[in-house]
Amino acid sequence: MEIRVRFAPSPTGPLHIGGARSALFNYLWACKNKGTFIVRSEDTDLERSSRESEHNILESLRWLNIQWNEGIEVGGEHGPYRQTDRLALYREYTEKLVDSGHAYYCYCTEEELEQERQALSAKGETPRYLGKCRTLTSEQRAVLEKEGRKPVVRFRVPEGQAIHIMDHVRGDVVFDSNGIGDYVIVKSDGIPTYNFAVVIDDTTMNITHVIRGEEHLSNTPRQVLIYQALGLPTPEFAHISLILNTEGGKMSKRDGDTAVMDYQKKGYLPEAIANFIALLGWAPSGEEEFYTLDELTEAFSLDRVSKSPAVFDLQKLNYMNAHYLKKAAPERLAELALPHVQEIGILPQGEQSPEQQQWLIGVVKAISEKIAYMAEVKDFVHYFHGDVPMEPEGEALEVLRGEQVPTVFGLFKEKLQAVESLSEAEVKVLLKQMTKELKLGGKFVYMPVRVALTGQMHGPELYDIIPLLGRENVLKRLEVTEKRYLG
Ligand code: GLU
Repeated sequence: MEIRVRFAPSPTGPLHIGGARSALFNYLWACKNKGTFIVRSEDTDLERSSRESEHNILESLRWLNIQWNEGIEVGGEHGPYRQTDRLALYREYTEKLVDSGHAYYCYCTEEELEQERQALSAKGETPRYLGKCRTLTSEQRAVLEKEGRKPVVRFRVPEGQAIHIMDHVRGDVVFDSNGIGDYVIVKSDGIPTYNFAVVIDDTTMNITHVIRGEEHLSNTPRQVLIYQALGLPTPEFAHISLILNTEGGKMSKRDGDTAVMDYQKKGYLPEAIANFIALLGWAPSGEEEFYTLDELTEAFSLDRVSKSPAVFDLQKLNYMNAHYLKKAAPERLAELALPHVQEIGILPQGEQSPEQQQWLIGVVKAISEKIAYMAEVKDFVHYFHGDVPMEPEGEALEVLRGEQVPTVFGLFKEKLQAVESLSEAEVKVLLKQMTKELKLGGKFVYMPVRVALTGQMHGPELYDIIPLLGRENVLKRLEVTEKRYLG
């Protein structure tokens, strides 16, 4: 049997890490089984849904390289793939359910329902609909309609039934139908509710596996009852655990960014994000933690998806991203860095000259081992750009007081003027020669030069800084330092 899975986001906001994980698990399961991965849109919340959110979700998936074979923008035999374009289909199934007695029209007003809820709560019972309109005759209905009441359609929940859900992650989960009141499947404006529309979509799209977040587990018995009423087979389920923050609470904005595109904007790499979210709730069998999408596909299985909550650990993500940054080609890193360097006005907007491109490639090469994500380039550009060094403090200032310092600077200037080009190799030679000629330990030469040029005792390698600053800036920075501190 062909495996068919789907990701069905509600386009009411950007794609979040949790949604991306559901999409990824579905994608991996489809790829693993040479099946089909569908992306469709649950846009029946007319007020909160927007095409803008849908666009963000699709762009986020594309950025992560999670490709779908069927669905929105791709098309396919089971479309349309937006729920608002499928209303006629839902009406057809509503009629079937009403005709077979599995659903009925309910005319209760919001006030009546509220009274019922309060009465049940007062008795300590679960608030639910008790079925007042279950047995309305067509005459009674006609009277109510005359009053101008617009009905909803409710599903008639069978009494005393144990509803079994075979879940790949949670095993056999049983719900008691008595705890579920007759629920609305079509609202008074004719728009289907999630629990109903999702069943019709899943069944008409021949979905074999429903892989989604744990928050939908409690919806599943309501969906299973609809399959049963329609005489349709239920798909297999896999409810993946919640994602918590490192303190065990619900993940929120305070724990870091939650939208996928926030990470893109900060200069994370999509392969790092995909790798990281794959490990949120799924564990490979071996020790390896770095996986490409192909390797994930190879390794993925539903039975290694964990029941216990996943923990979103930003430090781990940063560690993984740093790993991928180190491996990425400098040209790609430069592209990633460009908007951040432009943002602080160090490079102009628009096309860059070949020199500017080369400079940026040099910068990212020099710092790729030092950053977790590319927005951090902003903390480093001052090392490589401009003619004024940062002001040294504390120990760094002490370094400039060394008695050898004026001689070191003198020789450094001389050598700088004499050398033809300032490549990394030449700078290395130049610095070495200085230690030799001055008969000083490296530290007594490199440290004052470093402090003079950067104001700091740590930072990127001198042989990276000097060529990227260029002779003029190096000489000027040196001059500024001499004036300030050796005057
Ligand atoms: N629209 C639902 C959500 O975004 C989809 C749930 C499902 O996959 O059935 O959570």
